[in-house]
Amino acid sequence: MLSIQELSARYGDSVVVHDVSFEIEEGDLFGILGSNGAGKTTILRAIAGLHPPAVTGRILFGGQDILGLPAHKRAGMGIGLVPEGRRMFASLSVRDNLLMGAYGRGKEWQSRNLARVLEVFPELAERTAQLAGSLSGGQQQMVAFGRALMCEPRLLLLDEPSLGLAPVVVQRIFDLIAELHRAGDLTVVLVEQNAAEAFPLLTRGTLIERGRAVFTGTRHELETSPLVGRAYFGTV
Ligand code: ATP
Repeated sequence: MLSIQELSARYGDSVVVHDVSFEIEEGDLFGILGSNGAGKTTILRAIAGLHPPAVTGRILFGGQDILGLPAHKRAGMGIGLVPEGRRMFASLSVRDNLLMGAYGRGKEWQSRNLARVLEVFPELAERTAQLAGSLSGGQQQMVAFGRALMCEPRLLLLDEPSLGLAPVVVQRIFDLIAELHRAGDLTVVLVEQNAAEAFPLLTRGTLIERGRAVFTGTRHELETSPLVGRAYFGTV
């Protein structure tokens, strides 16, 4: 479904992703793993079409090279992004934040998907008029998920969805990811530093070190790889 081929990315003169290639199959819950600053967010931004970074290589989505397409075209093709740090419009209501995810769509599309998203998140249904800035961290993360789901994604990109959330909320977010993946016709890419929580969910994944994909495989292959063990679990 998504083929990343010789992807390189830079901010100005600084190249932070080098010749990365991996394949994501339909239905995967694919982990992009690696330590702080390894380049994981940069790879997600490249897939979503956000600038910076400047990107070279090929990104095939359903066989079509999307590298030259702007972010809203990619969203229109069914690529949804839950960005790092959630990126709410704090002074807009929950409803208006959700509708941002269907910007430029017709009224019918917007109301159909708003209803669907509020069904997934009953907690938000009670708070549609509330300002997003007044929500708890966990509720804001639900708005960020909901906003991404408003484009009816086939591919959902999640950037550190557990970051900064209380442990009990983290568990709910991971349960939610598993549920969305199971219930929908959805392929998920999950960027996480929180390996212990993320691992049980994954079907496959890749380990990024200093901007390079050093190991790609199934969950089992990742779990038993010395490279991943060293990076994540402190084993040799
Ligand atoms: P984190 O978990 O901290 O988000 P990451 O693996 O997602 O880490 P990136 O955020 O992709 O890593 O960052 C990769 C490198 O690119 C880092 O050295 C970072 O300092 C640099 N970088 C990220 N964003 C920018 C930017 N907008 N301008 C310049 N350099 C950047």
